[in-house]
Amino acid sequence: MSDVYRKCQNCGTVNLNRDYCKQCSEIINTTLKRKLEREKVAAAKEKHIRAKKPNPITLFFQNAIQHSNIFIRLTAKFFYSIWVIVIAIGSFLALLFGYIAA
Ligand SMILES: [Zn+2]
Repeated sequence: MSDVYRKCQNCGTVNLNRDYCKQCSEIINTTLKRKLEREKVAAAKEKHIRAKKPNPITLFFQNAIQHSNIFIRLTAKFFYSIWVIVIAIGSFLALLFGYIAA
């Protein structure tokens, strides 16, 4: 591997074969910097999706599953599994129609 000199944008120190400045520990490898930024954006996006409120029916079942009454809990689990299957079939059909239309 050839030697790579990188000048720090922060303090002007020239670094040899380093990703971070030896003087101020600023990141100087632009490829690595972009990669880290991309990962940060992706993580933020994922967090945003997870923070999004689930749909009301799913929410209702999630509450019912944690109910103190065992009978209600089992009933909720039974219907919840049906609901999950309905969603799975629905999304599959959406994919199928999308595929045919395209
Ligand atoms: Zn520096």
